Amino acid sequence: MRRISVFGATGSVGVNTLDLVGRRPEAFEVVALTGGRNVELLAALARRHRAALAVTAYPQCLAELREALAGSGIEVAAGRDAVTEAASRPADWVMSAIVGAAGLQPGLKAMEQGATLALANKESLVCAGPLMMESARRYGATILPVDSEHSAVFQALIGEDIANVERVIITASGGAFRDWSLERMASATPEEAASHPNWEMGQRITIDSASMFNKALELIETHEYFGVSPDRIEALVHPESMIHAMVGFSDGALMAHIGPADMRHAIGFALNHPGRGHVPVERLDFTRLGQFTFRAPDERKYPALRLAREVMEQGGHTGCAFNAAKETALDAFIARRIGFSRMAEVVEETLVKLSSSRLGNTVMTLDTVLDTDARARDMAARVIAAL
Ligand code: NDP
Repeated sequence: MRRISVFGATGSVGVNTLDLVGRRPEAFEVVALTGGRNVELLAALARRHRAALAVTAYPQCLAELREALAGSGIEVAAGRDAVTEAASRPADWVMSAIVGAAGLQPGLKAMEQGATLALANKESLVCAGPLMMESARRYGATILPVDSEHSAVFQALIGEDIANVERVIITASGGAFRDWSLERMASATPEEAASHPNWEMGQRITIDSASMFNKALELIETHEYFGVSPDRIEALVHPESMIHAMVGFSDGALMAHIGPADMRHAIGFALNHPGRGHVPVERLDFTRLGQFTFRAPDERKYPALRLAREVMEQGGHTGCAFNAAKETALDAFIARRIGFSRMAEVVEETLVKLSSSRLGNTVMTLDTVLDTDARARDMAARVIAAL
């Protein structure tokens, strides 16, 4: 039996993970499930999967969780520290699917016990890539990317020498506004931005897809995880979302990973790794698929992509500041305090204002990351207030 924990169990990736786990209950023992405000779902999942521990990130939700799990024998806890503590419970495989920088510390903690970390939380690598990769080395942990593009690159690289990689192309659906003009995007509402044409995902990543901040995070994630230099990483708009990524080699060969827009593909790969197992996703019928189309992303519409390149060039803590500013700007957009196009302006302005504080400094510890995160959130809030 494999002992597993799911962080962010009540989210889109978490629920998909538990869908796969629940199909083979004899193969898994569920150690810890964590969630946020959706206590009802957390309790239902904990009961269904007979988890040993259920944790909500919010202390104010503890009483509700305790009541929902009364008589079940399932241990309950609440708060940020309790979430991180849950990651120290012995487990063989841990899904990191909390959204945002809040996913960093549980992931680092899980690696301390040498667990396999299935990493959906791309923010961990964007904020603290060197720290994550160093932790994996130090504790003998394995990080498996669960972002569909990065799972695709990982699979294309099996048995390959990274030195032979000429280019990595990660595809983008183009999000909700791929056919909108820049002018129309400026007045888009959170509801419009949160409606994805191809993927069923959480609200925040869906809005990040519309602004391409999600793709920007993924460019940085590719650089941090695979160690590919920024000039070899490309984003390509592919509205059908069937090709998830392509890797080009020195002999001109291009390996593409193709599959339906269903996260259980990448989650299933990580769950079955190093082997492969049955995953209940749609099997593609190429005679019915029609066309695959591609276009270059319009960087005027998506300044996040240019910012991502600047972040990769500067390195150090710049990714952490970028992500923190992006999260703060996203909160303000969701709260209707700023317009859609203002998000990129806030992030850029925050990075400019923090540029004198040596963000590129490469000595990285958890404390320096948390400090940068706090400073960037504070600066982004000030930039927003001054708009
Ligand atoms: P969701 O918004 O659907 O779920 C997020 C999860 O994190 C929920 O369980 C939520 O709890 C919990 N959560 C929210 N805030 C906190 C916090 N401060 N501390 C602890 N837990 C918290 O997100 P997704 O599942 O869409 O995405 C999760 C991660 O996976 C993100 O990093 C995303 O970028 C990445 N990803 C997602 C994909 C997808 O298809 N959805 C694809 C590839 C990557 P609750 O809902 O109970 O409040």
